[in-house]
Amino acid sequence: HPGRIEVITGPMFSGKSEELIRRLKRARIAKRRVACFKPDFDVRYHRTAIASHSAQTLDAITVANVAELRSVLMPRIDEVEVIGIDEAQFFDSALVSFSSELVHLGKRIILAGLDTTFTGEPFPPVPDLLAIADEVIKLSAVCVCCGSPAIHTQRLGSNQSLVLVGAAGLYEARCRACFQPWVDEH
Ligand code: ADP
Ligand code: ZN
Repeated sequence: HPGRIEVITGPMFSGKSEELIRRLKRARIAKRRVACFKPDFDVRYHRTAIASHSAQTLDAITVANVAELRSVLMPRIDEVEVIGIDEAQFFDSALVSFSSELVHLGKRIILAGLDTTFTGEPFPPVPDLLAIADEVIKLSAVCVCCGSPAIHTQRLGSNQSLVLVGAAGLYEARCRACFQPWVDEH
């Protein structure tokens, strides 16, 4: 069995989690053994599931970092064929080498994550995952200002810390023309 790396990327609200859930559910229908993980940053909707903004969910194991992901997964690696990872941008760069390791073991790895930050810059380690992927699915959202395809995640308000998860109304999808990084709306 050759392994495979699939990376689903794009801004917030582009349907990354939905697409990840869709692929993992189809793998289950195909009787593949699936394990799904997410970082413990993301406890927006569920502690033990990945959730999309459209309220679809799939059971997931929450881990703090790649070291913990490794220690949970490797003891039962022979029982797993498909590995889903949501919010890949909140993991450390070890996710890249760990994904290579898994693909060499013949696993199918499906990762979903933001490709850019709210300042519009590449969001590590996702760019490196795109580089080693067999398939990249780049999704767009709908710009809330003009309705065009949106590739950016707009941070609303003045808090400029990189990781600010959760609170509704903090982010919206914007196209390239409507995206305004660094605008302080207060
Ligand atoms: P992501 O994981 O990329 O943040 P989700 O899979 O969680 O995306 O959510 C996608 C869903 O979000 C869409 O199917 C739609 O119901 C909803 N949604 C809300 N706002 C938007 C928007 N501006 N553009 C597209 N979808 C949106
Ligand atoms: Zn726009």
